[in-house]
Amino acid sequence: MLTIKNLHARVEQKNILNGLDLTIQPGEVHAIMGPNGAGKSTLGYVLSGREGYEVLDGEVLLQGENLLELDIEERARHGLFLAFQYPVEIPGVSNMEFMKESVNTMRQQRGEEPLSAAEFLKKAKAACQQVKLPLDFLKRGVNEGFSGGEKKRNEIMQMILLEPSLCILDESDSGLDVDALQVVANGVNSQRDGKRSFVVITHYQRLLDYIEPDFVHILANGKVVKSGDASLAKQIEKEGYAFLGLDSSEEA
Ligand code: ADP
Ligand code: MG
Ligand code: MG
Repeated sequence: MLTIKNLHARVEQKNILNGLDLTIQPGEVHAIMGPNGAGKSTLGYVLSGREGYEVLDGEVLLQGENLLELDIEERARHGLFLAFQYPVEIPGVSNMEFMKESVNTMRQQRGEEPLSAAEFLKKAKAACQQVKLPLDFLKRGVNEGFSGGEKKRNEIMQMILLEPSLCILDESDSGLDVDALQVVANGVNSQRDGKRSFVVITHYQRLLDYIEPDFVHILANGKVVKSGDASLAKQIEKEGYAFLGLDSSEEA
């Protein structure tokens, strides 16, 4: 699904990713943890193709394609979903219009028939209910005046509707309440189907109480320094990052 080899990247002349390796097979859920400033969010931004993030070395293959050569829209069309990719407000364009357009573009890319207005509305309503957003959210301007928790629910609704192959979520928002965490976890768990893969970047072990990851990776100084199963996250919760020789005071 995704292969990252020896990835080096910098932002503003500062090297942040320093030889990161990661391999994700279809159907797997990988959690990425690590001290504050380790480069977790940077990894998400590099994969998303965000401006200002310069790749110096290494390769990233998404389903065999060279991801780094694809522009942002092409990455999405190849099945990559980044939860933090659409936080912008688009006043005047309803959530519903925006999502219908996005979903049908993705379907076209996969060689599927576009959804009719009625078919889309049915799916959108179900997704809205799943993330516990009132139905009138579909009529509101994209992200217009959404609270932090509503934006989060909306992101998960987008993930459910777009049916991507690889979802990357950066759960860095310290403002997430337990309800919102559960919406994220429920969204991931409901979309696990043995084929779709997830990378859940998290600053908190707490999220992993609700999402059982297949693998946990610790990122420090821009590379993966330790990988294990879900028990690694529990060990970090108890002991911090000190047992890795990392400074726990830097913990997120
Ligand atoms: P994490 O998500 O693991 O906490 P980040 O990826 O956000 O870490 O940041 C990694 C390092 O890169 C930090 O030291 C941060 O200050 C630095 N950094 C991130 N973005 C920028 C930027 N735009 N300009 C300069 N430094 C940055
Ligand atoms: Mg941070
Ligand atoms: Mg971060």
